[in-house]
Amino acid sequence: MDKPKSRIGLEIHVQLSTESKLFCSCPTAASEPNTSTCEVCLGFPGSKPVLNKKAVDYAIMVALALNCRINTGFFFSRKTYFYPDLAKNFQITQYEAPVGEKGFLEVDGVKVNIRRVHLEEDPASLIHTGSGSNVYSLVDYNRSGIPLVEIVTEPGIQSPEHARHFMDELLKVLGYLGVYTHGDSVLKADCNISIEGGERVEVKNVTGFRAIQDALSSEYERQKKVTAEGGLVERETRGFDAEKGATYPLRKKETEDDYGYIAEPDLVDVEVDPKWLSSLKGRMPELAAEKARRFMAQYGLREYDAKVLALDMNVADVFEGAAKVDLQLAVRVVSRELLGILNYNKLAISGTKIDSKGISGLVELMKSGKVSDRNAKESLIRYALEGVAPKEFLEKNGLLIDTNSSGVEEAVKGVVAENWQAFDEFRFGNQKSLNFLIGLVMRRLKGKADARQVQKIIEGMK
Ligand code: ADP
Ligand code: MG
Ligand code: ZN
Repeated sequence: MDKPKSRIGLEIHVQLSTESKLFCSCPTAASEPNTSTCEVCLGFPGSKPVLNKKAVDYAIMVALALNCRINTGFFFSRKTYFYPDLAKNFQITQYEAPVGEKGFLEVDGVKVNIRRVHLEEDPASLIHTGSGSNVYSLVDYNRSGIPLVEIVTEPGIQSPEHARHFMDELLKVLGYLGVYTHGDSVLKADCNISIEGGERVEVKNVTGFRAIQDALSSEYERQKKVTAEGGLVERETRGFDAEKGATYPLRKKETEDDYGYIAEPDLVDVEVDPKWLSSLKGRMPELAAEKARRFMAQYGLREYDAKVLALDMNVADVFEGAAKVDLQLAVRVVSRELLGILNYNKLAISGTKIDSKGISGLVELMKSGKVSDRNAKESLIRYALEGVAPKEFLEKNGLLIDTNSSGVEEAVKGVVAENWQAFDEFRFGNQKSLNFLIGLVMRRLKGKADARQVQKIIEGMK
């Protein structure tokens, strides 16, 4: 039992990118603590929640993208618990009838089944502060009532790495849908893991990608050790200390019964009629996996290139625009050069001014031989970092090649006349002499020539 098999199930919370909260009109964007609150999200007696339609749209779209069956009639429930982050002493969530059920997401060739996708409100955030004997907690109710979609998987994730890839894949889907709020703390998960012969342990509230994988890895190692020493892994809830990279016990697992779910009486059942559903289906973009398959079929791309180009919707759009000009150049410019530059500078394309028009413009110039490879790359770097479109940059700096070939021919003739010995050597088959001559011509023209064109002219003089 060197490497016991693990089973992992994730309960992932993602903040939906609505302008207002789930059950009131308080804005979701607020900086000063406790400034975006009202009687609803502060849980005043008698206040009535009103459901945010946009959040429902988004949750349905997430469920559709994860291949779920949509519940055409769903409702909300009260999950009762007592804690300072919850002014009402219950959280409005979904229990018996979630938005969607029984979906899947394919990750590393494995179909990970999705148990359910549901909507719920975020509790307030607690900030633990102070030091020594003066330790206290602050409550910020700005978060209270922020719309979350919760995605619960079946325990079909096979390893911490697989979990990491699942998150990558999920985020890709959410990014394509444009329904989540970017940022480090938006992705929270309860990470459930068990190993052969042991009970399941739930590591609560792990924030961020890296931490999720680390929490699972360290919990896997702990369970393996317990088992190897002849102990039994017990069913429990643990926390994760990201600094120590280890999990610690919180409590023996509570069961769902402890929450005493009841149907929320202040909200009506939601009926998703066929018209509503089909209009949402119409708003669904082609997702990354689908797009990669299409790129392989339509453009004959290798799987690797297709996947890389489909990763980000904006990158994919830029590629497709450029492919209309020239497919080979588009693959080279976008997947090799542009993505290389973005990765190197740790930039997302959405954080730059790069658009389809700018990249297509560059590919056009390359196709007509008006720019050297070196200057093309330089212009891409400037585009990514400074936002100046390549064509503009190349024009401004006089880096466009004059394709009117008489100037080039003249330069070639001049160079050959001055270096007839090298030209003779080339005529007798010396490749180095050809490169030498091309170099001289390029220098004479200050790089504003197409080396291939120069070569052709020299060869033509043989
Ligand atoms: P609860 O509601 O008590 O948290 P659930 O049965 O709803 O428990 O499951 C919650 C999560 O735990 C799900 O993501 C599920 O996939 C995962 N899970 C269930 N059984 C196991 C197991 N044996 N090993 C790992 N994860 C599990
Ligand atoms: Mg749970
Ligand atoms: Zn409010």
